[in-house]
Amino acid sequence: MAKERTLGIIKPDSVEQNHVGDILGMVERSGLELQAVRMTRLSRPQAEGFYAVHSERPFFGELVDFMTRGPVVVFVAEGEGAVAAYRKLMGATNPAEADEGTIRKAFGGSIGENAVHGSDSVENAVKEVAYFFPGFELGGTAS
Ligand code: ATP
Ligand code: MG
Repeated sequence: MAKERTLGIIKPDSVEQNHVGDILGMVERSGLELQAVRMTRLSRPQAEGFYAVHSERPFFGELVDFMTRGPVVVFVAEGEGAVAAYRKLMGATNPAEADEGTIRKAFGGSIGENAVHGSDSVENAVKEVAYFFPGFELGGTAS
């Protein structure tokens, strides 16, 4: 399997509940290597752009409200098959269906407020890393 990078977001519900350290710890203990970590607050256009693929879905407004209501932590993790490995660590979108030992099982409150985001393909991971850490793929420092 190839070495990959994936983009994770610790969503506002997790930051509000002081779960940032626990979640980053779970990522590290899974064997993935953190390469960049930054706390930020998404603007509405940023959240709308990030989740543009869902813009026609009935929950889109709710999703953007949620993602912009407080700070988030964005991070890049690297490892063998990192995209799928981190998706597995996150657990199902609906925390009620998430496996034991996953982040969403431990910290997700509902299908809407589900603690974390993770890139769903290598192709999207490249785009999402560039979205939050411009220059990173070029070997520049995170800005
Ligand atoms: P993410 O993209 O955040 O990693 P995901 O890939 O598991 O999550 P998606 O189908 O991409 O799930 O949905 C994006 C986000 O939209 C979900 O994480 C959740 O916050 C929200 N969402 C998805 N389905 C629903 C729903 N039925 N009702 C409310 N919110 C939803
Ligand atoms: Mg998704």
